[in-house]
Amino acid sequence: MKVIQHSVETLHTALISSHTDLAKHYSKYSKKERRFLEDGLRLGGPGFSPFQPITVHSDSDWIPCHPEEPQDFQSFYRAPYRKIPSTCHNTIYIQPIGSFGEVKAQTDQYVEWLTEYCQAFFLGLAVKLLPPVTVAETGCSFRVNSNSHNLQILTSDLLRFLEKRKPKDAFCIVGFTMIDLYPRDSWNFVFGQASLTRGMGVFSFARYDDNFYSRAYAGRVKKQLQLKRGDYSVFEGYYTPPISSTLLLRSCKTMTHEICHMFGMQHCQWVSCVMQGSNHLEESDRRPLHLCPICLRKLQSSIFFNIADRYKALLHWMDDGRSERSSTASQSLPHFPKPLQAFDTPRLWLRRCLDILEDDKR
Ligand SMILES: [Zn+2]
Ligand SMILES: [Zn+2]
Repeated sequence: MKVIQHSVETLHTALISSHTDLAKHYSKYSKKERRFLEDGLRLGGPGFSPFQPITVHSDSDWIPCHPEEPQDFQSFYRAPYRKIPSTCHNTIYIQPIGSFGEVKAQTDQYVEWLTEYCQAFFLGLAVKLLPPVTVAETGCSFRVNSNSHNLQILTSDLLRFLEKRKPKDAFCIVGFTMIDLYPRDSWNFVFGQASLTRGMGVFSFARYDDNFYSRAYAGRVKKQLQLKRGDYSVFEGYYTPPISSTLLLRSCKTMTHEICHMFGMQHCQWVSCVMQGSNHLEESDRRPLHLCPICLRKLQSSIFFNIADRYKALLHWMDDGRSERSSTASQSLPHFPKPLQAFDTPRLWLRRCLDILEDDKR
């Protein structure tokens, strides 16, 4: 295991910039916010340190496979491809594609939880859920993967569909599905595909199922199944992963990571962060749910939230589910408590960060 070590000075410059105008822009943060961000760059110091260095565990991790210049705040802020929401384009649209579970009511809740999480993460922007569409409605091509024997749908067709469906006031539109994806015939699979210039992306959570890589995976179809172009009946009742706490955590992580790319934020190479690139599920699970100070400033400079307010909104989303757990008995409608066990560590993290941000003695 290798630890990516940057000096505090390097991280400080990556956060604040050496340019006078950007340093001045930084001074608009409150004193407490600045202390929180700057102290956070002293990774692994005494006591609670909210931010940790990035660790590389093998040559198949993202950083060894993609040697690229890290994007500091300054290069993000000056980038010609950076995108800022405007008064006419200020809504993030989320489009569920295909079925999301055997129980419809639980499926509906799952996509709502995800949307509400994005609302807290991108505090200040509107996040709207579009009515779900079936695979047939997208008119996309599909196939059976010859190795894993599961159904897959073609990303370029889905992006074309999303482009047509994108509302006029969209900052971006993000489609997601529980069906596996492929970008072209010669590829085995892809987790997702996005176009920054067109403000859209599509992602699959199929491989976040704990059983995906096992022989017992229920999404395998019979070898002799003959698919007919345009006949989408194979997708009716097709297997989707159970909605577990881990699936919700992984989905929240992917969704927010991918939407951050839409602002022009690149993969983080500074500090352990949800914006780290990932090549495989184990690496993706290793990433935290939060943004590091440098990426937090990138997002803040695009949508202008107060850091403590945003942490409170995220904490509220996590606490909300806890109070629901104890009040379900009295409700007559089918009700599924938010599965939040996997969020225990992020919840504690938010609380401790809020303690620092709201400490009057600092
Ligand atoms: Zn990414
Ligand atoms: Zn970062």
